[in-house]
Amino acid sequence: MLSALLAKEALLSHAKRLGFDDCRVSAAVFLEEEAPSLEAWLRADRHGSMRYMENHFDKRLDPRLLVPGAKSVISLRLNYFPVEEPSPTGSPKISRYAYGEDYHAVVKDKLFALLESWKSDVGSIEGRCFVDSAPVLERAWAKRSGVGWVGKNAMVLTKGVGSYYFLAELIVDIEVLPDSPVFDHCGTCTRCLDACPTQAIVAPSVIDSNKCISHATIELHDAVPASMRADLHGWAFGCDICQEVCPWNRHSTPHKETRFSPTEGWTSWAPEVWKELSEETFGRVFGKSALQRAGYKKFLSTLRIIEPVGQPPEAPRT
Ligand code: SF4
Ligand code: SF4
Repeated sequence: MLSALLAKEALLSHAKRLGFDDCRVSAAVFLEEEAPSLEAWLRADRHGSMRYMENHFDKRLDPRLLVPGAKSVISLRLNYFPVEEPSPTGSPKISRYAYGEDYHAVVKDKLFALLESWKSDVGSIEGRCFVDSAPVLERAWAKRSGVGWVGKNAMVLTKGVGSYYFLAELIVDIEVLPDSPVFDHCGTCTRCLDACPTQAIVAPSVIDSNKCISHATIELHDAVPASMRADLHGWAFGCDICQEVCPWNRHSTPHKETRFSPTEGWTSWAPEVWKELSEETFGRVFGKSALQRAGYKKFLSTLRIIEPVGQPPEAPRT
């Protein structure tokens, strides 16, 4: 078995080769700091229709309950900022993370490849891969390892990079040299709180999902509530407003992952094309996309209630 330092060197080398933009490590411990805030968020019913968040409370806070003998949590970052411009004026808006193939599949393929390659250097490792699909507090681990800080919009932000990236984790039973957290660089800025059209950011880094457009257009099984319809600002799947206004996203650069590219050039579709979107076209174009999470019927019901709008605001320079 390699030392914690050599295991880390091998890990970083494979992560880079596989296209991850950052890879950092935390010791697998109980998340003491996060426990009260998670409990308060759940008690205040801020999780909306995501009832699954009530399950596995202990596992969310302690990776050793997810992977017996866990010693390290590896946090990975993968850029998804698209090269394509947002849809033409008057077309519905889709959150940038959903432009291409569903990130769960893309990132998980990379994670499995990373674990296998790493094992070939290090030897036997017991570990599990996570991409937003199991009880792992990914932002807490990203913060702890220094991938970035948790901004007031509740996204993890990286200096000089922004927040348009996926997070993923490997929880493993070997010791790997840990990294350190970075400073919070939100400062006195409140742009995201001021810009959120539904006042869903109820306190710095605290989102009330019941008010969030992203939750209403994706997670909520029912149609978008009538009380929210005037505030959608053209968002048909997700919402990027609190990222678009963030000064740190001025630094975003396009991703290099071909599987994140939009199918059949849908980002250039005119508003008329969306109006005639059939289930067959939705299935063909978005069959592998995260839009399947909403599904055709829900997506269509949202398309029918949004008002046509223009291009998003530009993030100011820092
Ligand atoms: S995603 Fe949209 S609705 Fe949700 S907190 Fe951000 S700006 Fe508000
Ligand atoms: S908009 Fe300002 S306050 Fe909000 S996350 Fe970005 S830097 Fe932080």
